[in-house]
Amino acid sequence: MTSDVMTRPAVLILLGPPGAGKGTQARVLEEKFGLVQLSTGDLLRAAVAAGTEAGKAAKAVMAAGGLVSDEIVINILRDRLAEPDCAKGVILDGFPRTTVQAEALDVLLGETGQKINAAISLEVDDAAMVTRISGRYTCGGCGEGYHDSFKQPVSAGTCDKCGSSEMTRREDDNAETVASRLEAYHAQTAPLIAYYNGKGALQTIDAMGEIETISGGLAKIVTDVTS
Ligand code: ADP
Repeated sequence: MTSDVMTRPAVLILLGPPGAGKGTQARVLEEKFGLVQLSTGDLLRAAVAAGTEAGKAAKAVMAAGGLVSDEIVINILRDRLAEPDCAKGVILDGFPRTTVQAEALDVLLGETGQKINAAISLEVDDAAMVTRISGRYTCGGCGEGYHDSFKQPVSAGTCDKCGSSEMTRREDDNAETVASRLEAYHAQTAPLIAYYNGKGALQTIDAMGEIETISGGLAKIVTDVTS
């Protein structure tokens, strides 16, 4: 790929603890800007479901709320980034989560002449994350996210987007695992805020408000950093 600055596909990173709304907002940005959402959590869950070697190695770590090894995650991300649809530009949701992953991403993007437009930190209160995560569920048909208290479908049990009535809850969305996931975030992922600040790529947004308000703020940031 050539590295013409004007035609470079966008690379956006969403940073934030579990429950901050990265997945929800990534889906909104995907639709609005025609980008591709890359969630390493989703890719890993697919690997677990498919019973691949990577999936087998990741399963127990994910169930305990720890981080899967950098090697596995970087390989999965590298393969996915090489697929043709990613040429439209990507929103990374849940990657990088360690400094090793961030450095690997810099190398990967360097190989194709791409650069990170922004790493956007979703700022939230930890205390609220447990409630958010404990009540969330997803449409099995299209992946739309819902919440028992904050975002119910218009017709109970039926997805607003695709009409499916197959709703799923993640195995790791329980109070004990959430505590480990928050701990992993603060110990291993939060340092990336300083990493991207040092590169002049950091943007922050208050992510405690209404989903639509946050989406609006994010859209402004994305427009600014991609124009
Ligand atoms: P959340 O951000 O709500 O915790 P994800 O779907 O992003 O949810 O991740 C679920 C789990 O998948 C994590 O707890 C972790 O075990 C694993 N995982 C996802 N992305 C990564 C990553 N980049 N590095 C290591 N482990 C990851």
